[in-house]
Amino acid sequence: NALDWIDRELSQLDASDMLRRLTTRESPPVAGMVQIDGQQFVNFGSNDYLGIAASQELVNAVNHYVSQLGWGAGASPLVNGRGALHRRLEEELAAFEETESALLFPTGYAANVGTICSLVGKNDFVLSDQLNHASIIDGCRLSGASVEVYRHNDIEHLDLLIKQLPADGRKLIVTDGLFSMDGDVAALPELVEVAKKHGCMTMVDEAHATGVFGKHGTGVCEHFSVEEHIDVRVGTLSKALGSLGGFVVGNQSLIDWICNRARTYIFSTAQPEAIAGASLAALKIIQSEPERRERLNSNSKKLREQLVAGGFDIGDSTSQIIPVIVGSNADALRTSQRLKDQGIYVPAIRPPSVPQGNSRLRISLSSAHTDQQLQMLLDTIKAEK
Ligand code: PMP
Repeated sequence: NALDWIDRELSQLDASDMLRRLTTRESPPVAGMVQIDGQQFVNFGSNDYLGIAASQELVNAVNHYVSQLGWGAGASPLVNGRGALHRRLEEELAAFEETESALLFPTGYAANVGTICSLVGKNDFVLSDQLNHASIIDGCRLSGASVEVYRHNDIEHLDLLIKQLPADGRKLIVTDGLFSMDGDVAALPELVEVAKKHGCMTMVDEAHATGVFGKHGTGVCEHFSVEEHIDVRVGTLSKALGSLGGFVVGNQSLIDWICNRARTYIFSTAQPEAIAGASLAALKIIQSEPERRERLNSNSKKLREQLVAGGFDIGDSTSQIIPVIVGSNADALRTSQRLKDQGIYVPAIRPPSVPQGNSRLRISLSSAHTDQQLQMLLDTIKAEK
């Protein structure tokens, strides 16, 4: 059988604790209680940072728009036209982000891949942080540009790499705003300085920071007041906004160009309009209820301090994403299982999501967690140390 090699590869993955096994959730993916494979857990594995994903506002929005507009979008926006709700969401995203324009993609993954491929090609260069998300890495590879990876958040290294590049060719610096597996933020003020010095384009993926960082919740660029100096900002509606879809914001020509060039935009069906309706409702919540973000940020700070005081290695996290770094795949899986046995779900993260030897538990906090649930997490993780 020509596919026999697959079983051999799967056995090898299993032997090195690298095999992924799909579980099935039988309840909404909310931060509070979740049921997975028949068992109840307090969930610390969801990116529903503001407790919006299962909110009545989103459910009502979807019901309302589905009954008006039906479901499937039929074709890609350039073929069939974007829907009026897609357009309204783009306009509201641009207003929220204080940019001229916005473009909605089916997912954040598609937004990153399509945007990078629109900005650089065969004779160009892209400088990418070592810990950038897979969708950025894949965008860099697919673009055909020469990819230079700089050490995580090491702006001196970035500067050095740029100096060694030929003068010709476009240069794009791309980074996560908030790193998804480490919970630390990109050194954007220093990055902007280096970009200006060398005339590089800059792109920041705000996937985990939208709704959480910055006075108005637009992300890490706002947190550092560098929005004006970042050329391209990408975000997702699937995390703090509790919905689905990716977006890119910037000036009008940038958006027109991406709309003409991004293959993940041009050759993919638009998301159902009702999803855009849910995202509009979510956008309203994050703008009108800053107390969600305030509670999340103060709970995150408290838990980080408690974990550090308890002797845990949480790396450089300064956010709601808190890694507990244990090292080996086996230790990460074992600790995650022990927490599960106590009714707490914290996923084990292994390579290729993190470098070899850096396996960890990844705690995702949400404003929806109760004080009791947070205390239960802390007590259990300490008891299992
Ligand atoms: N960027 C980052 C940093 C992410 O963590 C993710 C999702 N895990 C994405 C982009 C992709 O977003 P989406 O889930 O909307 O495709």
